[in-house]
Amino acid sequence: MPDPASQPDPAPAARPAAAARLLAPCRRLLVLAGAGLSADAGVPTFRGAGGLWQTHNVEELASPAAFARNPELVWEWYRERRLTVAMSEPHAGQRAVALLKEHFPGGEVLVATTNEDDLLERAGVVPVIHLHGSLFDTICADGCGWARRDSEDNSLSMRPCPQCGALTRPGSVWFGEALPPGLLDAIRAFDADGCLMVGSSCIVQPVSAIPSDMAVARLPVVEVNLEETPFTGLATCSLRGTAKDVMPPLVDLLTSSTVRDQKRRIT
Ligand SMILES: [Zn+2]
Repeated sequence: MPDPASQPDPAPAARPAAAARLLAPCRRLLVLAGAGLSADAGVPTFRGAGGLWQTHNVEELASPAAFARNPELVWEWYRERRLTVAMSEPHAGQRAVALLKEHFPGGEVLVATTNEDDLLERAGVVPVIHLHGSLFDTICADGCGWARRDSEDNSLSMRPCPQCGALTRPGSVWFGEALPPGLLDAIRAFDADGCLMVGSSCIVQPVSAIPSDMAVARLPVVEVNLEETPFTGLATCSLRGTAKDVMPPLVDLLTSSTVRDQKRRIT
């Protein structure tokens, strides 16, 4: 009989205990979080409903050409998104990621996300690699190097670059733009021996090559997603459900021994 833990299991009925058995021996665990993780907190995904999302294609709003055509429209969309995120709170799935990072026994956890919100940081995850930039960064549109965090009142979006006088723009990575330098290298240098993909169904190249390569190398890749994704066939184990529902029991299984040890030392 083949060992069931080492066989690909694309079936939607896998349980957290099966995923925990796969990930527990890892020493360098990579968590890749996508839109599904933020959607649980009420942050609309690119396909979600509401506001400017309903009347414009994302490609019409999140590209250098869109900004050149109508900077004020693009800024309006970003102010709307910043406001939505500012009014959202981290949920149990995001707090579970923080718990995992802090208490994963005998190993390290690196968290990277394509999400641009700050909910993981607010849940206690530090640092977070933001592959697509941060929603709250404002940068010089002419690339003079000026950049500021703009989470207070969006005031920087109304003013020209204080360094060179050009327009300012959101610091996100837009369609047609390269990822910020060094981020993929940092993930590859981490040399993960296991991957947990949370709500990242539409993860795109070049990031998608990382879990694919790991699966091909027969390293455990666990997927948490509400639906089947292009990765389901490659994943060692797929857990069906929202991050909010699936992550707490999974992280509890992975960290309870650490928490027990700490309690024992305190008492
Ligand atoms: Zn400038």
